[in-house]
Amino acid sequence: MDHSAALLPVYDFSFALNSDYLKKIIPLLTQHQIAANPVNYAIFYDYVTELNPSLTSAVNQLLSRNISFDHETSLELYGNFISNASLRSFDNINQQIHKVIRQATDAINDTCHKAEQTNDSFQKKSAILENTPEIATTQSILQEIIQETKSLAATSQAMQIQLNKANVEMEQLRAELAQVRQIAVTDGLTGLLNRRAFDQTLSEIIEQPGKATTCLSLLDIDHFKRVNDTYGHTIGDNVIKFVATLMKKHAEDHHHVARYGGEELAIIMPNTPKQKAIEIAENIRLEMEKSRLKRKTDNLTLGRITISVGIAELLANDDPESFVTRADTALYQAKETGRNKVMH
Ligand code: GH3
Ligand code: MG
Ligand code: MG
Repeated sequence: MDHSAALLPVYDFSFALNSDYLKKIIPLLTQHQIAANPVNYAIFYDYVTELNPSLTSAVNQLLSRNISFDHETSLELYGNFISNASLRSFDNINQQIHKVIRQATDAINDTCHKAEQTNDSFQKKSAILENTPEIATTQSILQEIIQETKSLAATSQAMQIQLNKANVEMEQLRAELAQVRQIAVTDGLTGLLNRRAFDQTLSEIIEQPGKATTCLSLLDIDHFKRVNDTYGHTIGDNVIKFVATLMKKHAEDHHHVARYGGEELAIIMPNTPKQKAIEIAENIRLEMEKSRLKRKTDNLTLGRITISVGIAELLANDDPESFVTRADTALYQAKETGRNKVMH
């Protein structure tokens, strides 16, 4: 995959969800007299979806201080938090790594240089010592040798300190890099793999030669529009999070649980026979059916919320699209035949 494409923001493509966002973005732009151009729309898209916390706090600061979204402010927000935020993190880490390597290399070169000089000097002194009978000269040369040895030891110690420091810094950078990588594959709402990671994982598994049975579950919350309409978008989000937790709980460690799109979630199950995939999906469906979710603010019990699941088993000549389509068809059948079902 092209690296820059891999770092683009992950957007949802569902019509209904984006209509909901649109209905929030336009009033916000109007209220704050902000031009509804693509740059500002993108900023406020990230703002209302709350998937970009740094952008949210930057926008909140500007709004609270009544700072106008002029051309420059908008482009700065867009550049810092949307268009190349991940690229910038990678760039920063890359530069830091180069700096640490350069400093360590400089320290090693200094020590080598010093060692060469000392070696030359010792050779000259050794020739003098061989030809000098006088005690005083011998003593003074020995003093110099001791000084030079001490100085070389100090340089070598400085190099050791520099190398230790480089080691610590490299370890920190390694952790930062892992964190940036993690963010790039994680869905902000649920903590599951995001759509990009789902696509990539699925392709990798399908391309593996001689793979064992692989299954795919696509899961969709039933009548979710009603949940949003009755209790609001925030509760809707919490329901999605809850379903994600159930999926994580029932899936096996080697499974890949992802947010496929808005309220559609997925589990890629390598090395898993269909019967096992069905059992896992049934367990999630049953636990969801039995759960009585409550609204935090007033403990109001939400009505029964159920899920439907479609399962497909990978066939020899499948590509990602045909595999997903088969799971989607099964999901559609679950919906058509009454919902709260697992079909395969
Ligand atoms: P069905 O049983 O056929 O799946 O009905 P549904 O209402 O769940 O299906 P539909 O796909 O028509 O609507 C899905 C809704 O999910 C539309 C959108 O408003 C909502 N939705 C999608 N993603 C999110 C999200 O991230 N948060 C919230 N709160 N709502 C979302
Ligand atoms: Mg749906
Ligand atoms: Mg649905």
